[in-house]
Amino acid sequence: MLRTQAHISNLTHPQPSVSPQVPLPGETLTLLFLVLLASLSIYLLKPPAAVPASAPAAEFSSGRAMKQVEVISRQPHPIGSPAHAVVRDYLLSELNALGLKPETQKTTVADFLWGDSFRAGTVENVLARLEGTDHGKAVLLAAHYDSVPTSYGASDDGSGVATLLETARALKNGARLKNDVIFLFTDGEEVGMLGARAFVNEHPWAKDVGLVLNFEARGNGGSAVMFETSSKNGWVIGEFAKAAPRPVANSLSYDIYRLLPNDTDFTVFRYAGWQGLNFAYIDGLHHYHTSLDSFQRIDEGSLQHDGSYALALTRHFGNLSLERRREQNSIYFDILGRTMISYSSQWALALTALIVLMCAGVIFYGFKRGRLSVAGIALGFLVLPLNIITASVLMLCVGWLTRALQRGVNAIPQGDTSHSSLYLLGVAALVIASTSIIYPWFRKKIGVGNLTMGGLLFLLLLLILSHLYLPGGSYLLAWPVLFSLIALGYLFAAGDENRVSLKKHLILALCTVPSVILLPPIIYQLFVALGLGAAVVLGGLIVLLLGMLLPQLNLAATSRRWLLPGGALTASLFLIVAAMAASGVDKDHPRQNSVFYALNADTGKAIWVSSDESQGEWSSQFFTAAAQKGALTEYLPWPGDSYLKGVAPVASVNAPEVSVLEDRADNGGRLLRLRVSSPRQAAVISIFVDATVQLAVVNGKPIREGAEQSESTPGKQWTLHYCAPPAEGIELTLSLKSMEPVRLVVVDESRGLPEPPGAVYTPRPDHTISSPILPGDLTFVRKSFTLKM
Ligand SMILES: [Zn+2]
Repeated sequence: MLRTQAHISNLTHPQPSVSPQVPLPGETLTLLFLVLLASLSIYLLKPPAAVPASAPAAEFSSGRAMKQVEVISRQPHPIGSPAHAVVRDYLLSELNALGLKPETQKTTVADFLWGDSFRAGTVENVLARLEGTDHGKAVLLAAHYDSVPTSYGASDDGSGVATLLETARALKNGARLKNDVIFLFTDGEEVGMLGARAFVNEHPWAKDVGLVLNFEARGNGGSAVMFETSSKNGWVIGEFAKAAPRPVANSLSYDIYRLLPNDTDFTVFRYAGWQGLNFAYIDGLHHYHTSLDSFQRIDEGSLQHDGSYALALTRHFGNLSLERRREQNSIYFDILGRTMISYSSQWALALTALIVLMCAGVIFYGFKRGRLSVAGIALGFLVLPLNIITASVLMLCVGWLTRALQRGVNAIPQGDTSHSSLYLLGVAALVIASTSIIYPWFRKKIGVGNLTMGGLLFLLLLLILSHLYLPGGSYLLAWPVLFSLIALGYLFAAGDENRVSLKKHLILALCTVPSVILLPPIIYQLFVALGLGAAVVLGGLIVLLLGMLLPQLNLAATSRRWLLPGGALTASLFLIVAAMAASGVDKDHPRQNSVFYALNADTGKAIWVSSDESQGEWSSQFFTAAAQKGALTEYLPWPGDSYLKGVAPVASVNAPEVSVLEDRADNGGRLLRLRVSSPRQAAVISIFVDATVQLAVVNGKPIREGAEQSESTPGKQWTLHYCAPPAEGIELTLSLKSMEPVRLVVVDESRGLPEPPGAVYTPRPDHTISSPILPGDLTFVRKSFTLKM
């Protein structure tokens, strides 16, 4: 690369000078090229086309898989619900029909501490195994078949389940693989990856797993992104790059994902030390965990994308030896969703070293040509962060303003791509406007050379820091900086910076290619994943992109100084106003709300509760003007005091029950063996104990922290949430420190609101849905017990 630099410097021939006042086709073409390439890089992120059900039997067909999704997502099917049992039975019958002899794994899982309370449950995994010709390690395909209560679970994770079923069908119709393939339909993912824990900890097939492919969804469309891998992933990534038909993956998303508090079953597999790949599509995040996640709203291409990975990778890894093949972590990224580049972190360091050398070379050359000054570079170095701060503040303001103007409406629901794309374009235009005001002002003072060089030095600093903190993201700086250095070197060699020529435009435009095909897809994906909540990061990335395009923008801005900022500002205002006009409440963008019912069986009093800031037309029917906000202490041992509470009639429901099976002195303390049950078959039983619990066992399983939960600590009040308890209840053994009387509060939680006698409530209209985040459409019944020895 250094040689290229020297080579370019020999090319210094005077270019034909064109007066900057005359509009040049070159500058319009450069701008057009940049805009088209950026748009193309985002457009090509779209998933492949759907494949009809008539496709050959050995292929994956989204048409066939959609039929599975339709059945799976008829009803919300959370763990412990009757609809969940229907889905389980459907899976068993479909696997049987494929001749796969499925089995279930029913067990209690109790090794999960979530925040300050323990989570446990009875899970029922569904499994099947396709025998290979050899007896090496197996490929595990996994997806969860439970949904959240508020969603039909068509994408999350009906799409994953259907991907597994259709892949199994296609594999049965193709050549036999060397390795066994295990299909694992996990249960209880949504309540703490309980089924995955059960498989890893207890199932005899777990020891056979050589590689895991997990399929998830967090939206309703878009490309299926390979967003998470295991540690020491060099070999896995290399093979993925060879076999994936339409790879969309980058090591930055994995680094970012690891910083977020999100988990899937893959977390449990990763902690088990298994190597593997995790896939999800995430466009249309406002569908996630809501009743919008329905069969009708799935983008079938996303399902096809999932399936094309599943089948191609299973066939590929199914014929390779999967004995632990650990190689250094890779830096990887796709090029326009068509091919993958991957190299080791050592190569990434070598690339950075090369860039440092090249940077020194360009600086030396720039000084030699009289185009750089120390003060100029220093100022240029500060302009980029200044610009990033300006852009981030502007984006925060837009977010704040739109929320303030559209109070009560989900003005910018997380990642709602239907109108958030308008927001993204609007804020991107705003950042372009601010940048194209700030940069020319400084350019006049210090020249484009100093401005660009200072910016590149700032980026170089970020590149070096990325190796320490976000190694997977280093590629996103390295390649653009490298090519920007080439562009700058060329600019120095080409003489007067204000002289423009077609050749100059062409060479500079070519140097933008890495920036323009790598950065816009990441900006788009981050926006989709995190929404305007990540305004600071997004603003920063857009500025980085523009920073790398400085020489090109400089040329584009020479003749019509106000064209770019003026045009960008106008476009920005237009787009943001259009986005606001498009956002409103309708059945595609329903208002989310939270209303639930709580009954204290000790006092015989009940309330309606809402966690919403304000009440809409539907939820307001539960609250009179006298309803006040406060704590729930009397009903639920939850923190916080901003719950709106309205007096409710008492529903005729049975309270949870506790019976003492054994109560004796034990090691200076007390051992209590209890049966805790919900006569109304609620989906969750929560037990709060006001005593020091030394040891607890549920259904014969010790209750303890899970492998990945080491940073959590149990709260002052010992708490257990048990999901999907069996009809006869759970058997809980508590080893207590003291023999004093102990107080237990038991709350059971069922889905849906009750219909207390005499009360008539309007059913939920289709422009409102139950909040996927705040508790809603739930019935809690609480009863307390004091147990004396
Ligand atoms: Zn899921």
